[in-house]
Amino acid sequence: MGLSKAVSAALGIIPWIYLIFAVLYAATRSSFIICRFDPFIGIFRMGGDAGMVAFGGLLLVASAFTGRPFCRFLCPYGALLSLFSRFSIWRISITPSCISCELCHNACPVAAIRPPYENKVKERRRDGVKRLLAYFVFLPVMALAGALAGRMASHSLSTANKDIRLYRQVTQNEINPRDIQPVDVEVFFSQGGTIDELEARAAKIGTEFKAYSTVAGALIGLVVAITLINLSVKRTRKTYEIDHTACVACGRCFGYCPQNIKNDMSKKRQHNSSGSWEID
Ligand code: SF4
Ligand code: SF4
Repeated sequence: MGLSKAVSAALGIIPWIYLIFAVLYAATRSSFIICRFDPFIGIFRMGGDAGMVAFGGLLLVASAFTGRPFCRFLCPYGALLSLFSRFSIWRISITPSCISCELCHNACPVAAIRPPYENKVKERRRDGVKRLLAYFVFLPVMALAGALAGRMASHSLSTANKDIRLYRQVTQNEINPRDIQPVDVEVFFSQGGTIDELEARAAKIGTEFKAYSTVAGALIGLVVAITLINLSVKRTRKTYEIDHTACVACGRCFGYCPQNIKNDMSKKRQHNSSGSWEID
């Protein structure tokens, strides 16, 4: 089941958000969410959070309908790979003897082969410049909006940190003393902890959260803006093209290409002189 470009692009934002939050929580020594929210760990360990295991099972079922949903739409490592694949030295390309049969396009499990497209909207040079300027304004505006939202959310986000949580529990307990204190508060006092020292620690972490959440928000704003800009750009393609950020180098298209089959099969994965792999 092929997902539309817009849906794929929208879902493709999730791994970036996941990665940005993972770095935010790691940088503030709060939580390691990449391990915590891995939907497959529970399956391999035959235990763990039931909801997460069910989610992992759901992803496996979904992969029967769309290629590698976890890698494409959730995995933060997948986000990094797609970024760095832009700069990869050895990568596949469409054969120069392509006969536009569409077979590779239909065979690709992750919709990484773009068909030829004719952009019928002829843009005047002036309009093109205007559009470019609009992008230059749009990017910083989205980054600023994201930074603002991140800063505003920093208080809630900082709850993930155990010292912040403890400090809030202790101060709450000071305002409304309970007969039975929460375990963490009891342990804190029994270990000789002082509120002043905890307050100083929480203030330091709170400041870190403010700064990092602002940066995280700005980055999320940029990711959203770049995705929207990518979606809005309509470019003429004279032939089939590989989207290297989406290609997972599974090689499936090789076996579908009639031009490839026509040639010697041993040349299928030959490293050509230009240093790239060809469907040839
Ligand atoms: S190698 Fe696999 S993912 Fe890449 S374009 Fe070919 S079929 Fe698609
Ligand atoms: S399968 Fe081969 S010939 Fe057909 S469109 Fe793809 S690259 Fe071209």
